[in-house]
Amino acid sequence: MDSRTHDTRNGFPAGGPSGHRALATEAVHAGREDLVALGLHAPPLDLSTTYPSPDSRGEAARLDAFAADGAELVGPPVYGRLGNPTVARFETALARLEGTESAVAFASGMAALSAVLLARGALGLRHVVAVRPLYGCSDHLLTAGLLGSEVTWTDPAGIEEALRPDTGLVMVESPANPTLAEVDLRAVAHACGSIPLLVDNTFATPVLQRPVEQGARLVLHSATKYLGGHGDVMGGVVACDEELARRLRQVRFATGGVLHPLAGYLLLRGLATLPVRVRAASATAAELARRLAADPRIARVHYPRIGGAMVAFEVHGDPHAVIAGVRLITPAVSLGSVDTLIQHPASISHRIVDAEDRRGAGVSDRLLRLSVGLEDVEDLWADLERSLGAEQVGGDRRREEMAGR
Ligand SMILES: *Cc1c(COP(=O)(O)O)cnc(C)c1O
Repeated sequence: MDSRTHDTRNGFPAGGPSGHRALATEAVHAGREDLVALGLHAPPLDLSTTYPSPDSRGEAARLDAFAADGAELVGPPVYGRLGNPTVARFETALARLEGTESAVAFASGMAALSAVLLARGALGLRHVVAVRPLYGCSDHLLTAGLLGSEVTWTDPAGIEEALRPDTGLVMVESPANPTLAEVDLRAVAHACGSIPLLVDNTFATPVLQRPVEQGARLVLHSATKYLGGHGDVMGGVVACDEELARRLRQVRFATGGVLHPLAGYLLLRGLATLPVRVRAASATAAELARRLAADPRIARVHYPRIGGAMVAFEVHGDPHAVIAGVRLITPAVSLGSVDTLIQHPASISHRIVDAEDRRGAGVSDRLLRLSVGLEDVEDLWADLERSLGAEQVGGDRRREEMAGR
């Protein structure tokens, strides 16, 4: 038995494709291997938009090669939109954590998804099969066909039947935003046959789930969430094999949705603490889910089988009053930060989805989505408890505000 592939130290799966290092170790060291030789400790932040190219004949050959195959440029960088060394460190590290050959970073999660749709559409494969729920804007991008794609919505059991000769992509989220519904990735990957399966792994992170090990070909992250982890950087990334990565780099170069180098720097730094953050927040989330499930004011709690730091719950009373009532918890959209956030999907994250489609996907109007951070569980519970006292507390807060307190 290979002890490394069964390594459960810290409860994490073993490390990258080499199998040599555990995930927690890769999180700290991947993308930084050359630093000692460079005489550095912190990774360098390269903000250059352009670079000296004294040998233009040589540059012409390198650019021809990139246009032909999309492989990363060998040698010094040329221009910021073609690639950036700081961003490349983040890409290397994320690929290692997801167990893929490559990763391609973008300005946001939506820029990353857009690049995938454009890359597939450019091959004439504009049909997408997708399972609801997805993040609201992903649903909107597909439903509205903004990039020329056409979507067939189905449940996991219907995927095989929905495939067409022009299907270029199957897309699922698991656990899904915002209901935390899970799909059997292995079964879905099997149903896809040769069509690439894209799994949005934003909620699980590679700490809890590595979709490529279950047959996915593309793993998408809104890096804005857990990978950054501090609510101060927007980014997106697709982890995949090098063949798909080359197409994505070509699309990124041509359409410009690049990740800013400072964002790349912050995301690399975020990855170092990702396993610790996810593990700690997940323990708190599991406890809050347990307490919410026992609370008579709660109609239903959604907490994934694989765990994680997200909890969704449906209230008997007014969900808006709960949002208005929190004081420690921040009433805000987004997730994956060190502090706890709560939002009402039907009003914000999934507002752009047609109400009937939204409800059909299991997103009740009484559903609240909680992104659990690193605060003490008792302080969070006290705040939730108080806010579930609903209308009355919202009124108190408004009165306090009006009194200038
Ligand atoms: C936020 C989010 C996105 C979109 O990412 P941005 O970085 O906001 O563009 C995509 N998928 C999921 C699951 C998300 O939560």
